[in-house]
This record gives sequence, structure tokens and C-alpha cells, in this order.
Amino acid sequence: MAEVSFINPLSDEGRQIIREYGDLNRIFDEDETLIEKCIHTLNQKISDDSLIPKTYSQLAMKRIQWAIEKKNNKNFTQAEFEYITNEEIYTQDVVTFHILCQAIAIQFNLGSRETRLFVESQGKLILERLAKIPPMSREEIIDEILDEIKVDGAINWKSLKDVVASKKLKLTDLLIDDGSIILQQEDFLYRFGDEFSDRSPERMYNILVGESVKELILSRLIMQKTEEYIARIKEMSARIEIHPAIIKIGEELKEFIPEEISKYNQYYAGSGGLFGSVEAGKLNPEAFPPCIKSTVEGVSSGGRNDAIVLLLTSFASYARLYPRIFASEESVKVSDMDPDLTITENEILPLIFDAADNCTPPLFEDQPQEKINIISKLGFGMHESVDINHEGETKWYTPMSCEKIKIHLPNLCHPDKSCKGINNPLSCYGRKKFQLDKEAPKD
Ligand code: SF4
Repeated sequence: MAEVSFINPLSDEGRQIIREYGDLNRIFDEDETLIEKCIHTLNQKISDDSLIPKTYSQLAMKRIQWAIEKKNNKNFTQAEFEYITNEEIYTQDVVTFHILCQAIAIQFNLGSRETRLFVESQGKLILERLAKIPPMSREEIIDEILDEIKVDGAINWKSLKDVVASKKLKLTDLLIDDGSIILQQEDFLYRFGDEFSDRSPERMYNILVGESVKELILSRLIMQKTEEYIARIKEMSARIEIHPAIIKIGEELKEFIPEEISKYNQYYAGSGGLFGSVEAGKLNPEAFPPCIKSTVEGVSSGGRNDAIVLLLTSFASYARLYPRIFASEESVKVSDMDPDLTITENEILPLIFDAADNCTPPLFEDQPQEKINIISKLGFGMHESVDINHEGETKWYTPMSCEKIKIHLPNLCHPDKSCKGINNPLSCYGRKKFQLDKEAPKD
């Protein structure tokens, strides 16, 4: 049977592995056992040496790369990462998981895109690993892990309320009796076996609960536990000294994640990574005023929709295409500045969609129609995407003034010295960008 810790690295077994691992400085050393196990994984592509992690720290980066590629790369090739579903690497995997949790906790915010990427990837990984285990052992291991997670002999639906609230699981996926979630077959038969006289209770169990719901709940519960674990580390990191190896991994992730994402998202292209310098003419996030910076990082409180649809959409599009709107009398369209809409599609929309994704909960997860509202605020009517043939059906919405922001989105306005004497975030951006351009070393 597969090891419990390969599915749940937060299990007692997983914690034991961590206790026994010892010196964290070793994570940068080549590990022959790891290399051997990865190379000999069934279906693993080994044609290119760089595909195989040689150290635990490389394995950590590969896990993140797997998550990014799986989510974004249309030509994603599982054979390049097959070893991460090989249960023989469970010890290395557990250590890597804990290293990543700690590095992410000290480097990123809890609601950040990076943290979510990691937590979600853990959920996906669990489902992929479970799918590789033969059915009989799979059932056994799922029950064993659920037993360990259970509190007082049952999983109370309230223990999943955070998962439900975060929209990672629907209440309708659950069979609840007296506040307890019914997952195991014997529990189902004990409670409801007598209720079915004309059909098999076992069959009803498979219809109403079934293995797939159990797997989903298991993966969601572990995602939830991972998030809680990261939050605990973050809280503790203010009081305890962090190991230099963890700090180093955190710094590497800060560079690595934007670099990998930028392969699929033009907005992040450029030498400076997520908030680094971008080419002249492109949006410069360093010059964003505080309200826009907060929106780009993700809005979790009230006003999430307006922050993305009204504030950021107009700001980003005018800042990139027509920053002098308030000094001009002309009426302009997006295509006047961006005739083939490539800037809109490759720079402006990715920034807005990314910010929407950074919100808690992510905007399009519960309100996908807001994508259409964004397109309409750019002047392209109520459609799913920008299309020159629809331009003019709606008006290109002009950026909100500071006064309006203070009234409608007060949580986002935390003026700093760059806001002095201005009445619109766009003016603040223009002034700051001008200064930064002036200070930048000339080639
Ligand atoms: S003063 Fe204006 S630009 Fe500055 S944070 Fe507030 S709303 Fe944004």
C-alpha cells in the first residue's frame, strides 16, 4: 500500500519523516537516491538531463513548475514530471512539501497568488496520486487518512465550513446526517442500511457518496490543513529564527514563480519579474499608486467587483494606452491606440484577470459574468472577449477620481506621498512614472 504521507504530508508519519531528516543545509546537496528514483519512474522522460531534479531544493522548484505548467501550458507533458506521482519518492516529497510551506509562509502573503498556486497544486497532486493507486489499496489509504483527520470519530460539516466558504467544495457534494459527514461505506450502511428495502444499500452508497466524493473531500481537507499550516508558520516566523536554507528557497521562489508564469503571460515578461522593471512604454507597476497596488495584489474585503471592473480596468487601459485622457478634449477608442488589440489582449487584460484571480475568493470563480463587464468597460460591448467589430457598443469607461474611490472603495485608499495634490490615480501614476523614467540609468 502507498505511504500515507505521500498523500497527506501533514500526517503523523509525515511529521516523523521531518523530525528524522535533520540538517536542512543538505537540501542543496545532490541526492543519489532521489536521482535514481526519478530516473527509474515508469514513463518518465529522461532525454534531457534538466528534467530530473538532483537535489531536494530542485525537487521543490520542480513541484512549483509542474503546477504552473499544468495550469497554463497548452503543451504540458506529464512525462516530464512523472516522478512526482511515484510513491517511492515519498520521503523526499514530504521534506520538500514542508520546505515549500515554510518558504512560502515567510515570503508571500496568505491570499497571494503564490500561496494559492501551491495550495491548489497540493490538492491536484493528491488526486493524481490517488488515481495511480489500485482501487482496493486506494480505498484503504483514503479511509486511513480520513480516520486520522476525523475529530471525535466523525467529520463534522462545520469543520469543512471554511472549505465550503472558500468555494473549494460545495455543500451539495456532501451527505450529512446529524451534522456528521457520511463518507465511509460501513457508516452509511449502519445509518441508512434499513431504509432501502427495494434496492441495494451498497449501490445507493456508491450513488450518494461514492469514492470520488471521498477523494475530493480528502484533497480539500488537506488543502485546508496546508493553508492552516502555512498561516501558523507565518505567525510563528515573527518570533522564531528562520533557517537560512528556507530563506534562500523563499527568495528563489520569488524569482522563479514570476519567471515561469511570464512564459505564458506577457504582462509579467521583462527582466524584473512580478513587480520589477518593465520595458519603456509598458505599464510600470512600481509607479502604481497605493489603491491600484492593493487592487493588483487582490481584494478580499467588500468592493472586490468594483475594484476590478471599474477601478482597475479603466486605470490599466488608460495608463497603458492613453494616459493624457484628462488633458484631452478628444473622444478616443481603444483601437485608436491599439489597432490590432495586441496590447489590450497581451498586457492589459492579463493584468486585470490576474488581479481578479488574486482576490479572495477569486472574482471569476463565483461571478464569471464579471469578465463580460470588464470587456464592456473597455468599450467592446457585452461580450466574452475584445473584438474590433463590437467596439463602440459600450463606452470606454474613464478612470475613477480619488474622491469617488474614497467614497465607494475606502478600503483601497491609503495615500502616500505620491498622492499629494492629485485627484486621480492616473495623474499619480503619470507623475511617478515620469520620475522613475528620469532616475533610470540610460543605456
Ligand atoms: S489618494 Fe487617490 S491615488 Fe492615492 S491611494 Fe487614494 S485614491 Fe489612490
